[in-house]
Amino acid sequence: AKVNGRKQSCFYDETMSRDLARRREIEAELRSAIQKNELSIFFQPIVDLDTGRIRTFEALVRWFHPQKGELRPDEFIPVAEETGVIVTLGNWITAQAAKAAAQWPEDVTIAVNLSPLQIKAPGAALGVKNALREAGLDPSRLELEVTESLFLDDNYATEQFIEELSEIGVRFALDDFGTGYSSLGYIQKYPFKKIKVDRSFVSGPDVGKKTDAIIHAVAELGSKLEMDIVAEGLETVEQVRIVREAGCTLGQGYYFSRAVPDYLALMLLAQENET
Ligand code: C2E
Ligand code: CA
Ligand code: CA
Ligand code: CA
Repeated sequence: AKVNGRKQSCFYDETMSRDLARRREIEAELRSAIQKNELSIFFQPIVDLDTGRIRTFEALVRWFHPQKGELRPDEFIPVAEETGVIVTLGNWITAQAAKAAAQWPEDVTIAVNLSPLQIKAPGAALGVKNALREAGLDPSRLELEVTESLFLDDNYATEQFIEELSEIGVRFALDDFGTGYSSLGYIQKYPFKKIKVDRSFVSGPDVGKKTDAIIHAVAELGSKLEMDIVAEGLETVEQVRIVREAGCTLGQGYYFSRAVPDYLALMLLAQENET
């Protein structure tokens, strides 16, 4: 067992230093990526499951790297978080997203993902307010998506952030619900308008009777508390039917649309108004 243990730790050391090198590289490049115009925001519609109309677009960041090609946020957001670059990056994303949303009809909102680190950084609420003011976007048209990991430490800065922005009308959504340390305590404590049920409950390999019961229960909770329940990751018409019957009010997923660039988001909205 000892020999094995040593071998294993050698192996980890190697992957760790390779990982570290890749991270350092991404970190350095990320800092200049904004200036070089390599980043853009894509928009994925979130639709009303009763009417089929677009109610919100979620802003999802994309990095088109000149050598590495398109990088998924899962590859660089964690690095941005660990290195603190996420604060600058996040402010840029919020500003871009707010500008795009200012072009849309007034009943369409924009949802922006926020990392815990961004929220806990000094001046975080001010950064959001500045983005809104510069874009001329009413605060009620901005939704901030946060995950349960935000609440792992009971942080005063988090409370302040949510309170300060809720007061001016910004809405909050609880993202990836069911994957983390889900606690009804957060729902009790904070003014969430929306819960997003993680796509692993909708289209994962473990979807079945149990997940169905969970979606029903969350939808029921949502209707009692007057919150919207979003089913994420809808890929088939069958999944749409199931979550709709379970009582989810909103849906998001490839069945409706992938995330698209801003001009296509505008086209999707224009098409809706023709019908
Ligand atoms: P998320 O917030 O849960 O975003 C949903 C992810 O699911 C997106 O991946 C989206 O493209 C993908 N998705 C949507 N519909 C479907 C579907 O029907 N099937 C499948 N298989 N996938 C679907 P994406 O864009 O790669 O983003 C991944 C994660 O990266 C996001 O998860 C979010 O946690 C993070 N992220 C993305 N943009 C930002 C950002 O601007 N700021 C921060 N802090 N995090 C971001
Ligand atoms: Ca999200
Ligand atoms: Ca999510
Ligand atoms: Ca996620």
